[in-house]
Amino acid sequence: MAIGLGLAVVVLVGGVAVGTAARGNEEVAEAKLAEAPEATETWSILAAGNEIARLASEEDAKGVLEQVKAAYLTEGTEVLEVSFAEEVVVTQSAIESGDQPVLTPEEAVTLILTGSKEPKTYVVQGGDTVWDIAIANNLSPYELMEMNPGVEDKVSIGQILNLYQVKPYVTVRTKEVLTAQVRVEYPVQYENTSNLYKGQSQVKAAGSYGSKSVRSEVVKENGQVVTATVLEETVLEQPVTQVTLVGTRTVPITTGTGQLGIPVTNIEISSAFGSRGGSRHLGVDLRMPKGSPIMAADSGTVTKAAYSGSFGNLIIINHGNGMETYYSHCNTINVSVGQTVTKGDVIGTIGSSGNATGNHLHFEVRVNGVPQNPVNYF
Ligand SMILES: [Zn+2]
Repeated sequence: MAIGLGLAVVVLVGGVAVGTAARGNEEVAEAKLAEAPEATETWSILAAGNEIARLASEEDAKGVLEQVKAAYLTEGTEVLEVSFAEEVVVTQSAIESGDQPVLTPEEAVTLILTGSKEPKTYVVQGGDTVWDIAIANNLSPYELMEMNPGVEDKVSIGQILNLYQVKPYVTVRTKEVLTAQVRVEYPVQYENTSNLYKGQSQVKAAGSYGSKSVRSEVVKENGQVVTATVLEETVLEQPVTQVTLVGTRTVPITTGTGQLGIPVTNIEISSAFGSRGGSRHLGVDLRMPKGSPIMAADSGTVTKAAYSGSFGNLIIINHGNGMETYYSHCNTINVSVGQTVTKGDVIGTIGSSGNATGNHLHFEVRVNGVPQNPVNYF
């Protein structure tokens, strides 16, 4: 529209210059020029010396810059300063000084904020994958993820994806003061108790988080935090200290016979002690149906009766003579820490808890902490 009007006037002026028109007509032409001076000029926005957008009027150009700045302000903050990191100026540009199109203010704002005149987006449909969307738009999945920070290999229906790289033409530096409510961790106080065994703990009084209001001065560039300085902190609610009991009681160890009994009712070794596929198998695997009883291999004291990583449900009995036995992958544990057991007592049942394939008992014998082949002790 602006270009069309400009060209029409130039043609008219050209006609006059040829000198075929009467003097009266020349005056008419000059009067038209005076009435519509914007028709012969446009206004350019320059960032660090480069023209980034051209508009029909100075007012439009300045308005565009205000909108670009406003795009990076956070709602509800106290704005201290908004500026461009690079030199951004609005200058008058002659119509013939280049082939830049004259943009509407809306187009110019979008172009400056995104680096693209018509940002393309895509609304995720049912059955779409990041891969499909990328290929359909001549992008690699990696490029698509770069254009959409936070999007990984999963997308959800209705999600809007950018199909363009956001590269603003300017850097808007904002300095704002914002207030946020922050959680305050609670301290933990430990109390010894002989009611619990060593290594056990129990919460006596639960703690609770406090909260504080934090006022900070935040400097951002195009919405990304550059620095954040805390100006003031106000405690809104004090945290409540947690009191945790820590056991001090030593587990009294019952001494075993040194002669181990078989911990299951039927021996079927599915994996022997020793090297197994490049690693060392620290016990024997005794295959049994789920729920079959597990017996204490010797008398002693239970020192562990809990879930423990790849062991799954694990029972450890200390036999008091430097020997310990491990019963792993249990379905159920029927004993508790500190309990004295007699050789042959049922302490749990066979299962496949933890890192186990199929129901079996992973049984270990350790002498002074060193795993031994259990078969040698039966
Ligand atoms: Zn095993």
